[in-house]
Amino acid sequence: MNIILFGAPGAGKGTQSALLVGRKGYHQVSTGDLFRAAIQNQTELGLKAKSFVDRGSLVPDELVVGMVEEELQSLGGKPFILDGFPRNIPQAEALESALRRTGIKVDKVFSLEVPFEILKERLVGRRVCSNCGQVYHVLSSPPKKEGVCDRCGGKVIQRKDDQEDVIENRLTTYMNSTSPLKAYYKAKGRLVEIDGNRDAEKVLHELEKGMV
Ligand code: AMP
Repeated sequence: MNIILFGAPGAGKGTQSALLVGRKGYHQVSTGDLFRAAIQNQTELGLKAKSFVDRGSLVPDELVVGMVEEELQSLGGKPFILDGFPRNIPQAEALESALRRTGIKVDKVFSLEVPFEILKERLVGRRVCSNCGQVYHVLSSPPKKEGVCDRCGGKVIQRKDDQEDVIENRLTTYMNSTSPLKAYYKAKGRLVEIDGNRDAEKVLHELEKGMV
């Protein structure tokens, strides 16, 4: 089964994708991770995307869609989770036509529902390992040793776009451009709403129930 994990920034898409990858052999396609890697490696795509990512705005559709198409083609039929894509209606339509062309199906769209105030708390306190991507929170789940990843010993940092002024823009962008996708996928009968304001393990359990 191929799925889309949908939700606002901080809703837990990355955390749940990592859990599903670990347990079910899914391949995660995270457009945010792909952009961060491209920026770090200073590729042509990274240089074009950087200013949008830094200020929490959407990277132009033509850059995103091509990147996702390439990624899906490279999977050779392995089941995947789309995390952070699509982010607006034109991207969803581009995905539909790419899927039609390639004969790949997206079976379900899981929307992780988290109240806005909680999203802000999560994002302001979020820290990530710059090496393996493991997610921490300064209050609820700090690394054992400050600044050092429990899993790989990498450096734990705050994402530039997790700073308060950028968070506001990301949440507004979500409200204006991304949230209309819920109605879009509901109309197609593919939307499954999940309470994301719970322990990660409980959310995972709900997801797994919906994936049978
Ligand atoms: P994320 O890690 O999913 O929160 O994404 C981080 C940033 O990458 C976003 O704030 C956007 O600047 C960019 N980005 C990620 N996915 C997309 C997308 N599907 N369309 C446009 N921009 C994206």
